[in-house]
Amino acid sequence: MHELSMADAIVRTVIDAAEKNDAVEVLEVTVEIGQLTLLNPEQIIFMLEVLSEGTILEGANFNLEVVPAEIECECGYEGVVEADELDHLAPVISCPECGGHEFQVRAGRECNVKNIKIEKKE
Ligand SMILES: [Zn+2]
Repeated sequence: MHELSMADAIVRTVIDAAEKNDAVEVLEVTVEIGQLTLLNPEQIIFMLEVLSEGTILEGANFNLEVVPAEIECECGYEGVVEADELDHLAPVISCPECGGHEFQVRAGRECNVKNIKIEKKE
């Protein structure tokens, strides 16, 4: 239940931020999810909606932005790589320049709350 624990963490983060900012309602939440996290965006949204019931988050709009994988390879290639969409359980990525696997992953593993729109107390 990878998605559930992620969705739970997101909901807590948003509620915390909303309370600190005297929000009466959360209107919109934007979450960044790296392509390499293996999280299923549809499941995440579904769980966010379930978990937000009865909280300040209920009825908010959830937006997910998928962050593409980016690497810095030994061969000198720096940039985006395509993860294998067909295999969600283990996306294999290799350098598009040299086909190797000796690289640093610079992006694609994040799962962050990027933006929150709230309605404040008068
Ligand atoms: Zn390379």
